[in-house]
Parts: sequence; structure tokens; C-alpha cells
Amino acid sequence: MAAARRAGDWRRTHTCGELRPAHVGQTVTLNGWVHKRRDHGGIYFVDLRDRYGLTQVVLGAQFSEALKLSGEDVIGVTGTVVVRDASNVNKERETGAIEVVAESLAILSKAKTPPIDVAASELPAVDTRLKYRYLDLRRPALQKNLIHRARLISAMRAAFERESFVEVETPVLTKATPEGARDYLVPSRVHPGSFFALPQSPQIFKQLLMVAGMDKYFQVARCFRDEDLRADRQPDFTQLDMEMSFVEEEDVFAVWERVLAATFREAMGIELVTPFPRLRHAEALERYGSDKPDVRFGLELVDVAAWAKKTEFKVFLGALERGGRVLGLNAGNVAFSRKEIEEGLNAVAALGGAKGLAWWKADAGGGTGSLARFAAGPLAGELMQLLSAKSGDLCLFVADAQSVARKSLNEVRLHLRAKLNLVDPKHYAFTWVTHFPLFTYDEDAKRWFSEHHPFTAPEDWALGGPGADPGQLMSRSYDLVMNGWELGSGSIRIHRSEVQERVFEILGIGPEERQEKFGFLLEALSYGAPPHGGFALGLDRTAALTAGLDNIRDVIAFPKTASAADLMCQAPSPVRPENLAEVHIQLAGQALTRAAKGAAAAADLTPK
Ligand code: ASP
Repeated sequence: MAAARRAGDWRRTHTCGELRPAHVGQTVTLNGWVHKRRDHGGIYFVDLRDRYGLTQVVLGAQFSEALKLSGEDVIGVTGTVVVRDASNVNKERETGAIEVVAESLAILSKAKTPPIDVAASELPAVDTRLKYRYLDLRRPALQKNLIHRARLISAMRAAFERESFVEVETPVLTKATPEGARDYLVPSRVHPGSFFALPQSPQIFKQLLMVAGMDKYFQVARCFRDEDLRADRQPDFTQLDMEMSFVEEEDVFAVWERVLAATFREAMGIELVTPFPRLRHAEALERYGSDKPDVRFGLELVDVAAWAKKTEFKVFLGALERGGRVLGLNAGNVAFSRKEIEEGLNAVAALGGAKGLAWWKADAGGGTGSLARFAAGPLAGELMQLLSAKSGDLCLFVADAQSVARKSLNEVRLHLRAKLNLVDPKHYAFTWVTHFPLFTYDEDAKRWFSEHHPFTAPEDWALGGPGADPGQLMSRSYDLVMNGWELGSGSIRIHRSEVQERVFEILGIGPEERQEKFGFLLEALSYGAPPHGGFALGLDRTAALTAGLDNIRDVIAFPKTASAADLMCQAPSPVRPENLAEVHIQLAGQALTRAAKGAAAAADLTPK
């Protein structure tokens, strides 16, 4: 039974999204923010807002306090629910059939004019949004994003639990775990001169949990990577991280297919088609020019080298002589002007490094376009057959080094996806990309790097012996790609210490460094480690893409700027010399000057 309410109790009985015609006649109390106000000659209409919605409140002439209300004031209103006249029903709003006629009003908190107009449809500048994030977050669109994110996490957590995975938290203050970025370091006060690293991922810990016999682990894990930011990166971000024992690739894929199918069903009401297709890395590059292909549409790349050799087109022949490729794609029967092709599409191809884009409007009679004079006679028909082109189809070609030709046509393909409306944004197409190389050689650094990370198992270890070419080794890593975005990656891991030692050796990590950095892992592997593998899904990106957003910032409550700063709490910030001394740090040069300036600015802000 509900407790009796004392007179003047301002605490809500309902939310601002809850009242319907069924509540008509009830006395209710609502709490919320003043969204919009209208003065109709002594009668005030207030749209009251909370996370659940908006309710129209009517304040009669007796409410002189209503005159003092400003946008974003926090109030409590008690009143009676009344039905609106048919002509006043707001069909856009779930509470639009009723309004609350106020009997008492409590102003709980006054608001200054806020730098963000929550009720306005146009967005303020990004910096303002980040500085006043708590105001930006009042906007229903952002609240919806956070709720969407929470639903995804909740559904994934439930799905992993159904699969007998155990959620385990791993440390944030730890030792460096390489994932290819710089570490964020935290100085130790009690161990002068020593530093913790924030985890780039829980990789080593989750492997140790497998050595420990936990069998199936997952975690909603915060990861930290100090790298130059791109639009879809944040220095701290969240992964749905997992690991499992006694498995091969297909077992990891099957778990994720079940987890994602359940998540999409429960959180979004979307049925995914499983199993997801598998695509070898080499095939992805050959067919799409990208290792994260959008497989929702065709326009696949075609090798036209054999055809090019029969022509006299010097550009094509020259590229082939230099060991390059001549690749093409058939864009279909599209109505592009010459200018759109020669300027527009050319500029798109240039994004991938191409110096030019040859084009051909296919026709057995020779067609038109920059390639037409080389496609005379039977060559025209041959090229049409090669590209499955019908008369009038626009075919585009790049002749260059393999990586440039692929990258450039990938750019063109993705450009055409948007331009020609080739995909349904609500269609989620997943693909596992497999069989990556284990190592890649960096010509500048003159050394091998792990394509995934150093704990990834090779496909055929017999090829990894002394004297073998590391470039030949295939990896047991895999990526999950959705609609052209990499959502996450993982691998079957090395579970034998001698193999792990050899991989470190190939990577140029000497015995001493190995012991210092990874001695504990190598030792753990020597006490009976099960074969194991896992995967980590980028949660921010998954949440953003499924909310129809292209920036992860909008699904993160308190994100950082492109230069890794928090504009709201002004982090990072200089610290007082005494705090630095405590952690045994002395600043040098530029940092010292900046810190002094920071300290002076902070001193100015200190209340006198
Ligand atoms: N640590 C991950 C894994 O292989 C990969 C990543 O963090 O990107 O499971």
C-alpha cells in the first residue's frame, strides 16, 4: 500500500512520460526540468521534462511563481490529470492526450540561462557540448543513446552468463600489455621510479584466468590506449572482452554468433542471420580491396591484368611492368556526367593514393570514356564479359601498386555505396575475416611486428622454426566486421611457453626484456596452460553503429576531444609540485613551463 502523502510533498508520484487518459481525474505530482514555457495571458503552459518524456502542465493565474520560472528550473508540481480537447491533442507525444492542471508548485532549484538550449533542435558547437556535457546529456537524443548502450551491455551480459561465462574484473593499475599503442603510465608513490601502465586490454590477465582454470571469462572492460585520435577513437574505451579454453576458432565464432543474435533480438528486436560468413583476409582484399569489407552490396573488384596486356594502354602496361595491378569495378548503369566521373570520382580514388581513374561506359561497339580507344574490336566484348557489364554500365579502373589500386577502388566502392543508396542502413551484415599474416615487416624500423598481438598462435608452427621466413607464417587471429567497420578482433592464443619465446625472439624482444616484461606469463604457460582463444568487441563502436551514429562520442557519457582532453573537468591538468614530489617526478623543459602556466591560471581561479 502506498504511504499517505503529507501536504506539500514535492516528490513525484509519476514520471513525465507516464500519464495517459486512464489517469484522468487523479491527483499526481511530477518532478522535472522546465523545458518550454508559454504565457497565454495569465495562464502558463509548462512542458515539464524528465528522462521519461514531456508532460504539459497548466498553471492558472493564481500562480505568480510561474512568472519567475526560467527554462531548466527544477520544479515539483501537484495537480489533477485532465483530458485535452480533441483539437489540442499532441499526437507527437505519448502524454499528448492529457495535461496536468496545477494545484501547487515547488521551485526545487533555479537555473541560470544555460549555455546549451536543451529545447532547441539545432546543436551547439562541439566544444560547448563537451564542456557542459551534463547539459548536453539532458537532450533526449543523447539520453536515448546511453539507454541503448546500457541495453546492449545488459543483453550481452545475460547472453554470456547463459553460456556459462563468468564475469571477472582485471586490474586497471597493471603492467604494460601490448596491443600496438602507447601506454598511459601512472607513477608509483611507494615504489620510487616505478610506474603502472593502464591496460591497453585485459589480454594477459584473461589468458592467466585460462591458466587458472576459469574456462570461460568475460568482462565489460575499460581499455586505455595513448594513440593519435581519429574520429572513432577515444583514449579510454570499452570492450566486451572474453576468453575460453579448449577451443578452436569455430567455437569462439559460434559463441559470439549466439551472443550477438540474442543481443540484437533483445535490445533491438532485430533477427540476425547466423552463422556469419567467413572470409579469408587475402580474399577480402582481393574482392573488396579492404580487410573490413561491407558485404551488403556487390561492386567487387576484378583483376583485368590479362585483358590489359592485350591493349596498348601504356598506363596499364606500365603498372603491370612495375609489378603492380590493374583492377576494375562495374558500378552499373549509373547516370554520372563526365565531370562527375573525371573530377568527382577521380578525387575519391585519389584518397587511396591513385594518380588516376580510368573509366569506360561499356558497349560492345567500343563504348565511351578514357578507356574507349583501347577497347576497340573484340577487346570491348572481352572486357564486358570480365566485368559482367551490360551495355551502358560504368566501369572504373585503377592501375597502380597493389595496395594503392585496392585502397583506391575501395574508396570508390564506399563512395558509390552512399551515392547510389546501395545499402539499407538497418541491415546488419557481419563477416568473420580470418587467416591474417602473423607478422608484418616494417621497412623503416627494420623489424617484424605482430599483425594482431604477440600472444596470437601461428597457423602452422612447423614453419616457424629457426631460419624460417616469419613472413610466411599465417596467424590464427580473426576480425569481426559489420557493414564495413571492424567491430573487434581476437585469436587462438599461444599456450606453450617455447612457442611464445620464439615469437618474442622474432619480434626482436631479447631474453632479458622478455623476462622483465612477460616473465610471469612465460612462467604461467610452463605450469600447464590449456589451449585457449578469445575475442574483444568494441562496445562503443557497436553501440554507435547500431544507434545509426558514425561517432562513438555520442554513446559515451563523458567523452574526450580529438586531442584526448576532457573539456568539462579540464583533464589532463598540471598538478602541484608537492604532488609531483610525492610520486618522485620532476618536470623538465617544456613540461615545466606549461605546468607553471597552468599553476598560475589555477591560482587566478582560486576564490579569494
Ligand atoms: N585483446 C583482444 C583480443 O585478442 C584484441 C584487442 O584488444 O583488440 O582478444
